[in-house]
Formats: sequence, structure tokens, C-alpha cells
Amino acid sequence: TQTILLKNRPEGRPTLSDFEFTSEDADLTISSGELLLESKYVSVDPYLRGRMSDAKSYVAPFELNKPIHSGVIAKVLESKNDQFSTGDYVSGMLDWKTKQVSKGDGLLKVDKNKAPLSAFLGVLGMTGLTAYCGLTQIGKPKVGETLIVSGAAGAVGSVVGQIGKILGLKVIGIAGSDEKVNMLKSKFGFDAAINYNTSTDMKADIAKAAPNGVDIYFDNVGGPISDAVLFSINKFARIVNCGAISVYNATELPKSISVQPFLVKNSALMQGFIVSNYEDKFPEAMKNLSTWLSEGKLTYTETIVEGFEKIPKAFIDLFDGKNTGKMVVKL
Ligand code: NDP
Repeated sequence: TQTILLKNRPEGRPTLSDFEFTSEDADLTISSGELLLESKYVSVDPYLRGRMSDAKSYVAPFELNKPIHSGVIAKVLESKNDQFSTGDYVSGMLDWKTKQVSKGDGLLKVDKNKAPLSAFLGVLGMTGLTAYCGLTQIGKPKVGETLIVSGAAGAVGSVVGQIGKILGLKVIGIAGSDEKVNMLKSKFGFDAAINYNTSTDMKADIAKAAPNGVDIYFDNVGGPISDAVLFSINKFARIVNCGAISVYNATELPKSISVQPFLVKNSALMQGFIVSNYEDKFPEAMKNLSTWLSEGKLTYTETIVEGFEKIPKAFIDLFDGKNTGKMVVKL
């Protein structure tokens, strides 16, 4: 069995030396109620950066010299648990290990006939649920409104924009390359998209793309991009604070403009959220996401990196925008 441990708490940008690989002949015999799992797809996610630090957050930090865990799709190699059979595929929060024994807690069966297995880490998994719940529950979209989404070509952002289109919004995306911007328009049906890396005036480019102003801002990145959006928000705008990847590696407090005057003068709402707050909405979200997928109204893309040893690099690459759609490691 191979395992990836957290060796150091990253200072600033994570590096490969923050991770340690171990290999051992672990005892993989299972007892009553247990399962033997083989990892097939491992999700790497920006939020894991937060768990690598020991600052107080909504989930406990990873422990040093212990396995890191994230969303994993695994195959059941052997089962002594009534809920699962040999050959089933499951998803759940599992260790970064090639094989592991589980009691089955928190695992869900996934149906590989319904969608490719990796989709259960993305569009039909945590990031799809995040997009759906954040947009519908906080964004509260109304037909004809304008939605702008940052991190738009990523796992959450690309689904947010497409749901926006399905719900009758005008959708603008912000992403980091021309290739991504073109894909947002051609593959995902966004009305407009802005490359923040080549824009010389984000405030002006946003105003131009959203001549009627912005009613909903789905924010995945924070920082200067989000500052620029504030200048275009409308009265009663909703700002959905989903993530702030631009500051996850910051070692100093970021210098942002003061949001309060923008919120006050526009009677705007800004709300942070964690997808797990909306568990009661998951059945509705899964039903809609699956239906839209099967009807071809929703599509997705993935960046699939192959090899267990590539997991740390794939994680670090999220901070360089190397992924389009969900970043997943295939074992
Ligand atoms: P993505 O697939 O969007 O991957 C991260 C993307 O962020 C990169 O591809 C890159 O795209 C962009 N990025 C990286 N650095 C910067 C930067 N400095 N400024 C602007 N953009 C940057 O990841 P996810 O879809 O999984 O997550 C998106 C956000 O949603 C994250 O902030 C994450 O923490 C958050 N999240 C929150 C959840 C919640 O419950 N609240 C649940 C899941 C995710 P580009 O090339 O465009 O720069």
C-alpha cells in the first residue's frame, strides 16, 4: 500500500516537499462490518490548502505525518459489510492511499452506468452540489438577471455558469487564459468571458460585458478580481462567497478595497457558505444535475492526471490554473 502523508504545513504556496510518500505491506485483512477498498480516482481541491494549515476553520486541520484525505472513488475489493458488495464502486472521504480498510461510514455507492466514475467527484459530486446550492440558495436567480462568476472555467465555476443559463440568466465568466475564455463561450454557452490575466482594466471590461450591471456574483477567487466586480453590482445584488483561492496561499493579510460602501449603497447581500450547510438540498440538486446532464443541457470537462504519485503535483497545479473543469487523479 502506498500512502501520502502531510509532512509540513505549507508556508505560502505548497511545494512537493510538504508531502511524503510511504510504502508498506499493510495488513489488509478485514473484520466483520469492514470493506477493503482500492482507490480509483482521487479528488484534489483548493479547500484542502486550508486543512493543511493549523488555523481555525470549519473543519479540523490535517495532522502532520498522517495521511491526507479527500473525495475518492474506490472499488470494493472485499466486503464483510451488508451495505456493500464486492465489485461495488463507492465515493467518500478517504485517505490518500492506494488501498485501505473502511467501516463504510459516510460512503455512498455510485452507479458507473449513470456517468463515468470521475464525474461523481465533480459535476455529480461535491463541486456540482456546491455550484447548485450556492447559486440557487444564495444567488436566488431570477430570469433575465446578470450573473458573473469568477474561477469560471473550474469545477464549480463551469457548472455555476451553465446552471445560470438553464435558469435564464445572462452569464459572464472570468478565467485565466484565452483558451478557457473561448471554451466558456463555445462549450458552456456563457454570453461573455474575460481573461483576467490579459485584461488591463478589469473594472472596465466587467462594465462592458455587463451593461445592465451584475445581479449575482458567484465568487470563487476573492482578491482583486472580486474588488473589480463590486463596481458593477446592481441594487439588491447577491454576492455568493464560495471560495477565495487567490488568497489561500497568502502569507500577509491581503489588501482589498472596503466592500461595505458597495454593499450599503446597493442594498446588496454578501454571504459565505459551505456546501455541507445545504445537505437538505442535495437530493433536489442531484436530481436536477443528473436530469440536465442526461438531457444534454449541462456538460462538463475534467483534467485527469494519471498516477498516484502525481496527487501532490495535481493539487499544487490548481493554484496555477493548470486545470480546466474538475482536477482529478486517476490511479
Ligand atoms: P477549480 O476547478 O476552480 O480550480 C481552481 C482554479 O482557480 C484554477 O483552475 C484557476 O483558474 C483559479 N485560480 C487559481 N489561482 C487563482 C488566482 N490567484 N486568482 C484567480 N483565480 C485563480 O476549483 P474548484 O472548482 O474545486 O473550487 C473553486 C472555488 O470554490 C475554490 O475557491 C474553492 O475553495 C471553493 N469551493 C468552496 C466550497 C464551499 O463549500 N464553499 C466547495 C468547493 C469549492 P484560472 O486559470 O482561471 O486562474
